[in-house]
Amino acid sequence: MVQAFEPAYLKLLRSGELKKRVEEAYKRLETCDICPRECGGNRRESAKGAVCRTGERAVVSSFNSHFGEEAPLVGRGGSGTIFFSWCNLKCQYCQNYEISQLGHGREVEPEDLAEMMLRLQAMGCHNINFVSPTHVVPQILAGVVIAAEAGLRLPLVYNTGGYDSLKTLALLDGVFDIYMPDMKYADAEIARRYSKIEDYPRHNQVAVKEMYRQVGDLLTNDRGVALQGLLIRHLVLPNGLAGTAKIARFLAEEISKDTYINVMDQYRPRYKAHELLDVDRHPTAQEYEEAVRLVEEAGLHRLDKRGPRLVWILR
Ligand code: SF4
Repeated sequence: MVQAFEPAYLKLLRSGELKKRVEEAYKRLETCDICPRECGGNRRESAKGAVCRTGERAVVSSFNSHFGEEAPLVGRGGSGTIFFSWCNLKCQYCQNYEISQLGHGREVEPEDLAEMMLRLQAMGCHNINFVSPTHVVPQILAGVVIAAEAGLRLPLVYNTGGYDSLKTLALLDGVFDIYMPDMKYADAEIARRYSKIEDYPRHNQVAVKEMYRQVGDLLTNDRGVALQGLLIRHLVLPNGLAGTAKIARFLAEEISKDTYINVMDQYRPRYKAHELLDVDRHPTAQEYEEAVRLVEEAGLHRLDKRGPRLVWILR
């Protein structure tokens, strides 16, 4: 338990480092290598050639106080979510594809992002939860500077699909208190087939190691609300496609047996799932129970205890 808390980014704000990170991040948009796809286009001029189809401005679909997130993020006041449109992943079963693949939302300036953060703080949320943040790291950092100067004091959550580069995570070191990456696949070929992405497991595992190095195991206050640390999301896919046993072993052996993990049963066949036979159904209860058993058998014991959610956003 941790009682006294100051969000990480305030120290970097005071030293001037946070503003330097913003400059560095925007510079990298000019030959974009923000994520491991390394598309190389100049996003300050246009979104041409960007797999994430995002230019200089972030696109936001919505922001609100969310009660469907993991228990330590929700507490009593909710998690202050900001949902970014577009994505660096191309999950063929995405249940949120209108936002992630069709880009529904509106372009915003960093000042708009800062205002959203401050409004969520005023609403009583426990954190600012950036959903699908990977492709808009520069824009987020710029918004955090403005919000922090105007009084933002909540911990930040990096709620990512888990395809993140070490170089970009270095920009986030000392900024984000909480990392919540997906671990979607343990097999590169399965990741390529279902999310159109190369070498997901390697990039994902290296990223998770770095996130853990930065923030450690999940710490909560005396009301069970998350202040700092790593949470893992693992969505159970039908036919064992998510590679649960390997992911659980990786976490237990190479991260920590105290890793907090949400083994999710919310998968529904959406978007293009009906064109892909192996993911064209909900996982059975037995498949989900088997996934939980594998996670526990690996030695992980901090499983998110909430029941199935009625509302869920899947990348
Ligand atoms: S952030 Fe977007 S443009 Fe940049 S490398 Fe990733 S997918 Fe490509």
